[in-house]
Amino acid sequence: MKKKVVLLGSTGSIGTSTIKVAEDLPESIELIGLAAGSNINLLAEQTQKHRPSTIAIYNPELVPQLQALLPLGPRIVSGDEGLIELATLPEADIVLIAIVGTAGLQPALAAIRAGKDIAVASKEILVMAGEIVMSEARKYGVRVLAVDSEHSAIFQCLDGKPSSSVRCLRLTASGGPFRQTPHSEFANISLESALKHPSWVMGQKITIDSATLFNKGLEMIEARWLFDIEMPRVQVIVHPQSIIHSMVEFVDGSIVAQLSTPDMCLPIQYALTYPHRMASDRVQTDFAKIGTLTFEEPDTERFPALLLARDAGNRGGTLPAVLNAANEIAVAAFCNRQITFLQITQTVGEVMSDHQLVEQPTLDQILLADRWARTAARKYIASQTPRH
Ligand code: NDP
Ligand code: MG
Repeated sequence: MKKKVVLLGSTGSIGTSTIKVAEDLPESIELIGLAAGSNINLLAEQTQKHRPSTIAIYNPELVPQLQALLPLGPRIVSGDEGLIELATLPEADIVLIAIVGTAGLQPALAAIRAGKDIAVASKEILVMAGEIVMSEARKYGVRVLAVDSEHSAIFQCLDGKPSSSVRCLRLTASGGPFRQTPHSEFANISLESALKHPSWVMGQKITIDSATLFNKGLEMIEARWLFDIEMPRVQVIVHPQSIIHSMVEFVDGSIVAQLSTPDMCLPIQYALTYPHRMASDRVQTDFAKIGTLTFEEPDTERFPALLLARDAGNRGGTLPAVLNAANEIAVAAFCNRQITFLQITQTVGEVMSDHQLVEQPTLDQILLADRWARTAARKYIASQTPRH
């Protein structure tokens, strides 16, 4: 049976890979809704090819231009309401959320409450509100499927086993572009070098997160909620070849890993076709060519983002949302050349230490903490940067 898929963030890195997967499997996947932020040209091109019934452009001012590009339809919606409308389209089976940042949280909850399975690329959703999202999913009897390659790997390795059968989850990390850079050179890291990821081509935000290792920190918290496992049992191991996408160590000491050449099309396809595996020639893995798989302990002295994320995950409440929001602001400031690479992690640490944690927060309290952290991060950055 064809899965009817709504794709939020269709013009981004995950979005365009999802479109490739849909084109690989026209018998299994139908794109019935697409949403983008502002890239109307690519959204129009995707729409002409895939003919979704409804599309969304976040910026309402762009609706007339998009309409002009698509004179024969489809229905065009915009803003936050537009995203909610797409996420709850009556005919949708699954909503894949690949919007960078936090704009995907409300659509994710709306989709769950409308009885849709969700496939989550936007890790921010689970970092901010993992407990709420997972408990709503249980209540409405829908699946939360992982698109992030590490979490897709763990999901495949677990194969339905409960968390009580698990000793620990071992998330693999490529180590990013500065894995071998001495600490003394960190102060001079440029934006250009931080944007060069050794194994994956991704959007700008996640590429910087992979350089600081905040990406792995966010993924630890994401795993904690997706697989209902306490933080101390979520571990990170650096594996520069990015062939093992993650591993599960079971209580008897047996370790199951999932491997392939790195290509996001694979976890995306698995999330969209689950519980089936569909034939595809896209991903090929040649072990003789790969030659060696190596592993090392992450260096938390050079990459303290991992410690901050573990602390946020351990203490819980509103702290993960604060870490996520402060990091988003700090990454944007680094990309605008307002702060140095080292100041990204410093900003997050400062904002976290000023936060008054709320335990068992409601969604409103989480959103409030998110806004508070953004303001606090901007203030801290302004106090650090010289005025021109
Ligand atoms: P990109 O920056 O490449 O793409 C972001 C997408 O979100 C674009 O389609 C953008 O539209 C859209 N968008 C932004 N804001 C809005 C909004 N308010 N409403 C609707 N659409 C919006 O990011 P990635 O694809 O790299 O990452 C997306 C998410 O997936 C992130 O949360 C990331 O952490 C996660 N992820 C990504 C991986 C990767 O390999 N790239 C791997 C694992 C997780 P527009 O183009 O119009 O601006
Ligand atoms: Mg990942």
